[in-house]
Amino acid sequence: MVDPLPDRLRRSFLEILGPTGLLTDPTVIDGYTVDWTGRFRGSSRAVLRPGSTEEVAATIELCRREGLALVPQGGNTGLVGGSVPHEGELVLSSRRLTALGAIDRRDAQVTVGAGVTLAAVQQAAAALDLDVPVDLAARDSATIGGMVATNAGGTQVVRWGTMRHHLVGHEAVVGTGQVVSHLSGLVKDNTGYDLGGLLCGSEGTLGVFTSVRIALVPRPPFRVTALCGFADVESMLDAAATWRRAIPELDALEAFTGAGLALVVARAGRADPFRDRHRWYLLVEVSGRQDPTDHLGDVVDATPGIAEVVVATEPGARARLWSLREDLSLAINALGPPLKLDVSVPAGAAAQFLGTVGDVVAAVVPGARTWLFGHIGDGNVHVNVTGADPDGEAVADAVLRLVARDGGSISAEHGIGVAKKRWLHLSRSAAEIDVFRSVKRTLDPDGILNPHVLL
Ligand SMILES: Cc1cc2nc3c(=O)[nH]c(=O)nc-3n(C[C@H](O)[C@H](O)[C@H](O)COP(=O)(O)OP(=O)(O)OC[C@H]3O[C@@H](n4cnc5c(N)ncnc54)[C@H](O)[C@@H]3O)c2cc1C
Repeated sequence: MVDPLPDRLRRSFLEILGPTGLLTDPTVIDGYTVDWTGRFRGSSRAVLRPGSTEEVAATIELCRREGLALVPQGGNTGLVGGSVPHEGELVLSSRRLTALGAIDRRDAQVTVGAGVTLAAVQQAAAALDLDVPVDLAARDSATIGGMVATNAGGTQVVRWGTMRHHLVGHEAVVGTGQVVSHLSGLVKDNTGYDLGGLLCGSEGTLGVFTSVRIALVPRPPFRVTALCGFADVESMLDAAATWRRAIPELDALEAFTGAGLALVVARAGRADPFRDRHRWYLLVEVSGRQDPTDHLGDVVDATPGIAEVVVATEPGARARLWSLREDLSLAINALGPPLKLDVSVPAGAAAQFLGTVGDVVAAVVPGARTWLFGHIGDGNVHVNVTGADPDGEAVADAVLRLVARDGGSISAEHGIGVAKKRWLHLSRSAAEIDVFRSVKRTLDPDGILNPHVLL
């Protein structure tokens, strides 16, 4: 429980934000204080919902003067506890920053309020045969501001890269209260420090995005999805490596296990499209201006080690194949709050890692269950552990040290948040972390922005 907001502060926030911009009812605030997994729970006296950049700036200035800490929050789908007020901070929600500008057809760019969901931008882009180059399963809730703040990756990184690659303009309020706005969208613009690039991936610790300008990509008319079953991890990884080289218009390469498929079938009621159950599955998607189905068929036919394959070209059938992968997080969550570790490993170490990580977990907590899936096309593995205390650090410690030993990253795409703060030194040097701290001191001298995240 936290004390209610004093009347003096309530009046000041109301002056800046108006009545729809301030939430103080504890039953309403509750939804903003727990994360998507249910693992991270906090408390807050108020949720601040500014409707413009000016309101964000005035809010931050007031918080600076009053020494009040803030947690920026978008769709609250982040999985590392970065969007939750852990120690009574105020929540600064972007959900009223929902201006969705007209798409500029000439340069295929759009300026979007930080609180607009990915799905809303995808829908607007689709009307012009364009697409957002980053896609993820939380698309209906995840906001563009949150995605830039976390440098989100997702299922199409193998083709298009992460959010950072498509950020062509930004407007944000840094911890000093200053507005940094550079929304021109110029592709060539070497006029000093790339502040958008610096704030991108900073997890709300340096500034609050209010709008961003992103570059869109063409939406090809043809798309084909195949799901292949493999008897062993080596064959699955060899296939993934071969297809990356052989298929120029490769959009996605997603891996999951037979145990994962069984869980989705049992928990989410999805149909298993295969005759037999296989140890590993690889979902591959290809799109193009010409129908890529034959080319994909030829490549798959020539790939050794495939036990069974299902191909879908029609949107409903493709969505059914994708749901076997995308429903996995929800199905795992239904077993109780999992420990979620999102890591990347070099291609040469992937087989060893996938083959041993379950044993490493079981050696720490006998009986714990390890679920492996992820964007294997870019070396990204989601290691989810159930049956172990998600807050107990021994499992995370063992897995993250294994990742570091293999030359991987302790966070491929979700960020550090509070969940991985302790292990940042496994992926970043002391000198790098020192520079992080200097940047933080400059842009957020009072340490009011997401004080418990990252550093
Ligand atoms: C089912 C599921 C699937 C997912 N799949 C993927 C995936 O494939 N790839 C991937 O990268 N992630 C994935 N995620 C994680 C999550 O969706 C992303 O991290 C997403 O970018 C978070 O967006 P959000 O709006 O929900 O941000 P939030 O969860 O609200 O916040 C995330 C972080 O960004 C900060 N933040 C939010 N908004 C702003 C802002 N306007 N300005 C500054 N800081 C801000 C917060 O303080 C916090 O540190 C998945 C999550 C779920 C639940």
